[in-house]
Amino acid sequence: MITDTHCHLTCDELYPKADELMQSAIDAGVDLMMVMCTNKEEYDRALLLKEKYPDHVKLAWGWFPEDAKTITQADLDLLEEEAMSGRMDVLGEIGLDYYWDQSFKEEQKKLFIAQLEIANRAGLPVSIHMRDASRDTMDILEAHAKTPIIFHCFSGSLPIMQEALKLDSMISFAGPITYKNNKQGPVNVQNCPIDRILSETDSPYLAPVPYRGKRNQPAFVAATAQKIADFKETDADTLNAQIRANFLSLFDPRSKSEKA
Ligand SMILES: [Zn+2]
Repeated sequence: MITDTHCHLTCDELYPKADELMQSAIDAGVDLMMVMCTNKEEYDRALLLKEKYPDHVKLAWGWFPEDAKTITQADLDLLEEEAMSGRMDVLGEIGLDYYWDQSFKEEQKKLFIAQLEIANRAGLPVSIHMRDASRDTMDILEAHAKTPIIFHCFSGSLPIMQEALKLDSMISFAGPITYKNNKQGPVNVQNCPIDRILSETDSPYLAPVPYRGKRNQPAFVAATAQKIADFKETDADTLNAQIRANFLSLFDPRSKSEKA
């Protein structure tokens, strides 16, 4: 039972091969995937995929920070309608990204907060995208987040991880922790309690070693999980069972009501 808690299986690049990729994942023991959607088209595709593979798919949708310039109230209303429908499992990925463009930070923050409030009203966990924006992201989460939090593809510093853990969150690790030149990733994994760790691919990006340079796919998450197990000095089966329990605990109604 290996888990890919973050893959973009319905993006334009992967969707034409979605069935094939689902099947190779399941064959590799990756039998639960959370499909991340960044627009309505990807989300509609993901609904079909979930209908086809109900036991293997969880579904997430959120407006990406880079789209903050163009998202309207109507777009937020559309997301809220779906969030309330019971069809979505997680709201995200949402957050702040100052890596590419710092010219619209205020718009990004506004969009982030509006989506956290939707998640609060819908009682949905949130998946957080945080890139070169740790301080602002943490400040906003501390003030507004009331549902369980996943820090997707965590690559922050140790103090930021410790602050994130205080929010009762899950820390999700992706392919970069398998890269030789990544010094911070192993330190973060070693210092993260095992009951707060998740594994992900972020497919089609960031393929782990030994697939680095290839287009990433959910089946490859097994390599990242193996690396996490190595850093934690445990075996892959034990680690993967723990990750599955961690992931499913996000959907436990008790964890919602305690924080709300
Ligand atoms: Zn993503």
